[in-house]
Amino acid sequence: MTVRVAIVGSGPSGFYTADALLRSDGDYEIDIIDRLPTPFGLIRAGVAPDHQKTKNVSRAYEKTALNENVAYFGNVDIGKDVSVDELQSLYDAVVLAIGSPYDRKLGVPGEDKKGVFGSADFVGWYNGHPDFRDLEPDLDTDAVVVIGVGNVAIDCARVLVKTPDEMSHTDIATHAADAIHASPLKDVYMIGRRGPIDAKFTNVELREMGELKNCTPIIDGSVIPDEVPEDMEMSDRDRRLKDRNLGTLKSFVDAAPDGREKRVHFQFFASPVEVLGGDSVEGIRMEINEVRDGRAVGTGETYDIPCGIVIPAIGYQGQPLEGVPFDDWNGVIKNDEGRVSDGLYAVGWIRRGPTGVIGTNKHDGDRAAEQIQEDCSDGGKAGRAGLTALLGDKGVRWVDYAGWQQIDEAEKSAAPEGAPRRKLTRIPEMLAVLDG
Ligand SMILES: Cc1cc2nc3c(=O)[nH]c(=O)nc-3n(C[C@H](O)[C@H](O)[C@H](O)COP(=O)(O)OP(=O)(O)OC[C@H]3O[C@@H](n4cnc5c(N)ncnc54)[C@H](O)[C@@H]3O)c2cc1C
Repeated sequence: MTVRVAIVGSGPSGFYTADALLRSDGDYEIDIIDRLPTPFGLIRAGVAPDHQKTKNVSRAYEKTALNENVAYFGNVDIGKDVSVDELQSLYDAVVLAIGSPYDRKLGVPGEDKKGVFGSADFVGWYNGHPDFRDLEPDLDTDAVVVIGVGNVAIDCARVLVKTPDEMSHTDIATHAADAIHASPLKDVYMIGRRGPIDAKFTNVELREMGELKNCTPIIDGSVIPDEVPEDMEMSDRDRRLKDRNLGTLKSFVDAAPDGREKRVHFQFFASPVEVLGGDSVEGIRMEINEVRDGRAVGTGETYDIPCGIVIPAIGYQGQPLEGVPFDDWNGVIKNDEGRVSDGLYAVGWIRRGPTGVIGTNKHDGDRAAEQIQEDCSDGGKAGRAGLTALLGDKGVRWVDYAGWQQIDEAEKSAAPEGAPRRKLTRIPEMLAVLDG
């Protein structure tokens, strides 16, 4: 008896769900569906192009994709090409693994000006996501302000200041590399509303900022405490990690430029109050904060940073899918430990919000597989054959895993020397590879 499962989204949470189902003792036919021809979600389109080791996790997903009980349907947008209702009529279980790739807004005047790019858009642009191919940030500027002090903020800052040589072993999209390396950019500001202890970056990423060829980290040493205060509640592990970050930030205080031309400024205790300029960004007004009871409270004192681009990197949210209950406040699908309704499940960022590392999504996949095992049985549904017929009727051109492998090969064979691939960044270009 075969249980037919559709997994919508081919990022980590989708693949971990498929893998957990394959490892269980049930008999499953699993179809992984993605709106892009290319699989792997944020592994391809989020993880920084100079962190290739992290991206290698997709090799494990490939093993899952090549399992005889798994098929890939790329270039199929659920909610547009096929509805969730239609999928539910074809499959015993439908798992929504669609991520939450939309930027949270800053909520300050001027944020609609030309030159403000949420980190989701900006990261998608340098990683060659087709949705952001034509973003065209005008990098003819001396300064960029990144709002946020997490790993995504640090990725944006680092990719902007690395030299062409430092980026030569990466798969940064060519259009982004060309624009960044032609830019006169000198200063990148990273701004945290509270202090260094509250910064979310991990230590490896932070340390990297002190090891760049043409960029010096700048920080005012007076804002860095010696260690996390004893009366501050946190686990021993977190305390160790935070103390390590404080040590790294301190090591930046006396960093000498030694001929390096660019600077990344770490600024704390400040929040944006207005994006300045006419149609386009000319600067940002920051308000200095005090921290009271763990909360950043504005003091009324402001300062301006002249800049041509502002990148808010303050978090992500999901968007509703028609017919699926949505929690607007948290930007996730409403669910009870992953269960949404009969035969419908959510995993990954769209289930629990944009937190954790890649491996955090594994737990979601395991849990969803257990639930499907508990809840679902062979309902005699059409499954893969039904989806293929429906896509045919609707004239939707889908890309199977062999098709992705052809695209992958085309990208690899076009790679500049030393780089892993040269990404195709428009869907028609990808489909053209399949047309030979
Ligand atoms: C900029 C950035 C950098 C990161 N770097 C790291 C890192 O270095 N290390 C680390 O551990 N974690 C990193 N993360 C976190 C990690 O990427 C996430 O934990 C993980 O990708 C979440 O997996 P997911 O499957 O929930 O979502 P996603 O990876 O977003 O996958 C969702 C998939 O669903 C597809 N989809 C969406 N809507 C539809 C639809 N309607 N129909 C069909 N398909 C759809 C998308 O195309 C996508 O492929 C980073 C995150 C970001 C944003």
